[in-house]
Amino acid sequence: MGYVTKTTRGWGSPSRYVQGPGEINNLETYTSLYGDKVLAIIDPFFYEEFSEKLKKQYEEKGAQIICQKFKGEVTLKNIDAAYEEVKDFAPQIVVGIGGGKTLDTAKAVAYKTGAVMVIVPTSASTDAPTSALSVVYKDNGEHSHAIFYHKNPELIVADSEIIAKAPIRFLISGMGDALSTVFEARANQQSDTANYIWFEQGGFRRCKASLCVAELCYRTVIEKGYLAKMSAEQGIVTEALEDIIEANTLMSGLGFENTGCAGAHSVGDGITALPVGNKTLHGEKVAFGIICQLVAENASEELIEEVVSFCIRVGLPVTLEELYVDPTEENLQIIAKASLNSFWSAQPFHVTEAMIMDYIRMGDAIGRYYKEKADRNE
Ligand SMILES: [Zn+2]
Repeated sequence: MGYVTKTTRGWGSPSRYVQGPGEINNLETYTSLYGDKVLAIIDPFFYEEFSEKLKKQYEEKGAQIICQKFKGEVTLKNIDAAYEEVKDFAPQIVVGIGGGKTLDTAKAVAYKTGAVMVIVPTSASTDAPTSALSVVYKDNGEHSHAIFYHKNPELIVADSEIIAKAPIRFLISGMGDALSTVFEARANQQSDTANYIWFEQGGFRRCKASLCVAELCYRTVIEKGYLAKMSAEQGIVTEALEDIIEANTLMSGLGFENTGCAGAHSVGDGITALPVGNKTLHGEKVAFGIICQLVAENASEELIEEVVSFCIRVGLPVTLEELYVDPTEENLQIIAKASLNSFWSAQPFHVTEAMIMDYIRMGDAIGRYYKEKADRNE
């Protein structure tokens, strides 16, 4: 991370993004444009159903497919094991089918094998599908580091029928992740921090297009989030749900990668340093992180109220208690310290561990205040 030392602008994105009901049935048609030797890494929950379906779909067309069950966590060990199993098969295409962690593993395996990266998210829980990076965890589940690739997945196929049937909590968590994008984009804009496009080569100054996407992402979530939740609760694919799938997946992904993360994701990452950190989903931790970032930025009460009220309405956590975090001095210190390894440097001001502890305390107090207020009005 660092301030942009050149004025060159950079943009990165997947080559193709397809979203609609039943699109998984067209997977072979799409991947046949790239080759006929396919490895599918599938989330254990969907393994039986999808491996059978895909084998039929591919074998009918005379293409070769190997299906592999995702091993449960994105660790370097699991990535290597998945690669070792298929390196002799030498797939031309690696398709990841599942949640963020399955997809991040599939990306790493695709990269190692030099295959075309195809992503099929089964929920709209994070913005991992479109990005050119994998977030790797330590064997104990703690956040470790990100692996950056020189290009984004070639193709994303988002089947909105599958996503509509995923647990509602995933869709809501994705909204938390999507909601943070604009605030982090603005922070990166103000500090003029490099984005993540060819990050290891130094990144670039963000294009105006990326800020535009981040702003639209926020408005879409605020305006359509609750309706999308209702729609998913009924298992119905409505245009409101399609809007949120696009916001959580495409807009949030393009937004964060082309601008950068900041305080909200730092607090989210910091929480993973606690043993209770894995009790909540990425976007749930990030949602609370947004409140902390807004405190750090001295945001207006009106803006804080808009964000926090939305979170409460859709069921995103706004307090430490909802994240299972006991607000002891020791816990706050662990979160603050770990969060300094993430993206605080993208804020346009210097922060210290003690300051972050205060942002978290204040964020928690704000969350509790609005929750009590909401409970009284019910
Ligand atoms: Zn995120």
